[in-house]
Amino acid sequence: MTLHTPRLNPPIRTLMGPGPSDIHPRVLSAIGRSTVGHLDPYYLELMDHLQSMLRGLFRTENRMTMAISATGSAGMEATVVNLIEPGDPMLVCVNGVFGMRMADVAGRAGAEVTTVERPWGEVFSPEDLKDALAAAKPKVVGIVMAETSTGAWQPLEEISELVHDAGALLLVDAVTSLGGVAVEVDRWNIDAIYSGSQKCLSCPPGLAPVSFNERALEVIRSRRTKVQSWYLDVSMLANYWGSDRVYHHTAPINMSYALYEAVQILHEEGLDAAFARHWQNHLALKAGLAALGIEYTAQEGHQLPMLNAVSVPAGVDDARLRSDLLNRFGIEIGGGLGAFKGKVWRIGLMGYGSRAANVLLFLGALEQLLAEHGHAFEHGAGIAAANASYQASRSKPD
Ligand SMILES: *Cc1c(COP(=O)(O)O)cnc(C)c1O
Repeated sequence: MTLHTPRLNPPIRTLMGPGPSDIHPRVLSAIGRSTVGHLDPYYLELMDHLQSMLRGLFRTENRMTMAISATGSAGMEATVVNLIEPGDPMLVCVNGVFGMRMADVAGRAGAEVTTVERPWGEVFSPEDLKDALAAAKPKVVGIVMAETSTGAWQPLEEISELVHDAGALLLVDAVTSLGGVAVEVDRWNIDAIYSGSQKCLSCPPGLAPVSFNERALEVIRSRRTKVQSWYLDVSMLANYWGSDRVYHHTAPINMSYALYEAVQILHEEGLDAAFARHWQNHLALKAGLAALGIEYTAQEGHQLPMLNAVSVPAGVDDARLRSDLLNRFGIEIGGGLGAFKGKVWRIGLMGYGSRAANVLLFLGALEQLLAEHGHAFEHGAGIAAANASYQASRSKPD
């Protein structure tokens, strides 16, 4: 049989959407290193080092910190199904697509789900949770730190206190936040947390870093029922990641190399330096967009640096502009999800993708396309404003 399938030849893109993000060349070449067995002493040692680097990233001492062999949504499932038994009350904070997803996952795991809601683009204050906590008496409260569908940045410290005063566990979605802004698992007393490899860690999709503290592990140890998912059962995974090294599933060896390299690159830069870089590029992009008359959708003061959600200007055809960006400039940005479909662009400045070259390339391409779409603005103003923002941050004393 002759197969007439084309040779693999993926185009080179600049990934400025909600993920996956641009991959560091060192990470791409790490994937191509030789595969060893999943019980090879080299790999077992690598897992130990990866675990300790992930603890650094989450800023935690949690022993049970590892990577689930699947994407961020599996991190969500893993944390939920291990903490929840059928009939357990769970409160989920919903102000966008990923809060909705968590509520869905919790319901499928058998939780009695209650939601508290905020309008898309806004965040929760401790006040918003008080009544629901008293009424639902949840075992677990789930909340999204960086709501990728709206660009809203949820503060956690005070909410964590409230949740623990109510006797519940705090479960946090850090898929988009980890690596781009500070995620303080121990200081904020987060009981269970998950992330994904393809957002601010700039690794291909396929691994979900997770961490459970002792309080969460105690809840898991005292379960009356088996964890409903065999694959995501943390006690079994612990035997593989722990000192016993009992075969559970074949770990995705080369993806682990990639995550290892990605997290090491972050640690080489320094987490605080990486957060500052994300912030600086966000400010430059924001200044540039403001000069073009484009506004952010998330609440002022709670806008994520790595996910810039903005309103599509009136009169501009969302789908056509994004396909022009992709086909003519090789730049991918995200469209709106759910209630924001057709109305919002989601511009990612994540991990390796958060750099001045991307900000200026994007603004330059956007200016050209906006002009073609008949949007009125002063040509060059976006790039000038972004450059002025970089200039100002450079001349600022440390
Ligand atoms: C991307 C994302 C997820 C889902 O991760 P996948 O890797 O797509 O499965 C969950 N939560 C948030 C906040 C995300 O941005």
